[in-house]
Amino acid sequence: MKIYSEELSIKSEKRFQVINITSRVEDVVRRSGVSEGFCLIFVPHATAALIINEYEPRIVSDYIKWIMEVFKPGGGWEHDEIDDNAHAHIASSMIGSSRFLPVMRGVLVRGTWQEVMLVELDGPRTRRVIIQVVGD
Ligand code: ZN
Repeated sequence: MKIYSEELSIKSEKRFQVINITSRVEDVVRRSGVSEGFCLIFVPHATAALIINEYEPRIVSDYIKWIMEVFKPGGGWEHDEIDDNAHAHIASSMIGSSRFLPVMRGVLVRGTWQEVMLVELDGPRTRRVIIQVVGD
C-alpha cells in the first residue's frame, strides 16, 4: 500500500467564496499512481471548509446564502470580540474540514454533479489543502 501526499495552495479573493478545486484534486490522484484506494482532502484551517456538491453559479450563491442565514456573521458571537470571525469558526466546525472519496481504476469517484469545493469563510487568504491518496 502506498501513501502519496501533496499540498495545494489556494488563494481566495473574497470574504466568502466557493472555489472549485476538483481538477486539481484529480491531478493529484493521477500523479499518485494509485489505482484502488481512497483520497483524503483536508484543509488545515479553522475558518474554511470543504464541501462536495454541484458547482453552478446559483447553487453556489445559495451555499453562501445558507452560511449567512445559519451562521450569522456579526450575530452577537462572543468570539467576535477577538477577531470578528466567530461565524467562520462555527461554520467550519459544522460543515467540516475534510472529505474522503474512493479512488477506483485510478480515478477519483464522484457523481456527475459532485465537485470538490473549498469554502472560504473569512477571506481573502491563502489556504493550504492537503491531499493524501492511499492505496495500491
Ligand atoms: Zn477567530
